[in-house]
Amino acid sequence: MSQYWSKLVHALSPYVPGEQPKINNLIKLNTNENPYGPSPKVIAALQKEAADSLRLYPDPNSDALKQAIAEYHGLNANQVFVGNGSDEVLAHVFNALLKHDKPILFPDITYSFYQVYCSLYEIEFETVPLNDAFEIKVSDYFKPNGGVIFPNPNAPTGRLLALSEIERLLKQNTASVVVVDEAYVDFGGDSAVALVNRYPQLLVTHTLSKARSLAGLRVGYAVGHPDLIDALHRVKDSFNSYPLDRFAQAGAIAAMQDKVYFEETRQRVIKTREAVVNALEGLGFELLPSAANFIFTRHPQHDAETLATALREQKVIIRHFKKPARIAQFLRITIGTDDECKALVDALKNTLKM
Ligand SMILES: *Cc1c(COP(=O)(O)O)cnc(C)c1O
Repeated sequence: MSQYWSKLVHALSPYVPGEQPKINNLIKLNTNENPYGPSPKVIAALQKEAADSLRLYPDPNSDALKQAIAEYHGLNANQVFVGNGSDEVLAHVFNALLKHDKPILFPDITYSFYQVYCSLYEIEFETVPLNDAFEIKVSDYFKPNGGVIFPNPNAPTGRLLALSEIERLLKQNTASVVVVDEAYVDFGGDSAVALVNRYPQLLVTHTLSKARSLAGLRVGYAVGHPDLIDALHRVKDSFNSYPLDRFAQAGAIAAMQDKVYFEETRQRVIKTREAVVNALEGLGFELLPSAANFIFTRHPQHDAETLATALREQKVIIRHFKKPARIAQFLRITIGTDDECKALVDALKNTLKM
């Protein structure tokens, strides 16, 4: 019945999220969720909210949440925008800040949603190849553009770009917005939030899905100059006045405020990552240095797809991107609990017969 479709819809090739399996007892290392639950204070806040006020619309502006995020980062609330997951925040960013005459720039190997948003909003883009070590070279972005966006650490490589390099890009790129998607920054990077008061063209996005264990709650945010934030509000209020429900707002506030729990769980993930890196190196895997809650790895003697299939048969699911060709032999593996990672290593040993 596609004769009823808007013209644009025919040309879309939507983002395909990692599998959320319907079978239990799989070890799920495929979508970069946090293996630890959210802070107990989040659960308490959700329970309180459930008892209270679902009859009423939520605060359309999420003012209390913006205040909590601003306090966490030492910024003002007018420098904060919140959305239903950082994917929604990014959608508004593409629409509000990255749609210009010149093409926007992003790495050839990166979060595949960027390209999807370009089709949805009919934005021209150019991809900039990572170097042979899968690093972003900022000087490759020193050219006229409608905007620049990349994750830091990058996905799915896990490689971190130094803050000094981001600053070098900002000094050069003043005529368009630079978006740094920091979905994974809490697992080993320095945040570019430290630069937003000095660079009015810088927008930094964060999610509560990864380091704050709230993928199911759907909360993300952007911080930057109030003028950038204003553009995002204009788009949001032309689209959905209430993107964050009462649970999302209450739970996210509690998550931002519980710094002790946050620190503890992220350090646990980092520690497990270092152990997994060592174990996989011991099995002959090559790994890119990871500053994220996942690793990106290949085995010089074993085909990636074969390995992924063998792991699945042993109830461990990981992510294998077949494209682009440069990463076809890599596997992206989320860091789980110590026990989950032990099961992963055992399954790999079993597969490699070691
Ligand atoms: C997970 C992820 C997001 C999206 O996070 P949500 O807040 O869950 O929508 C954004 N960017 C990158 C690079 C991610 O990996």
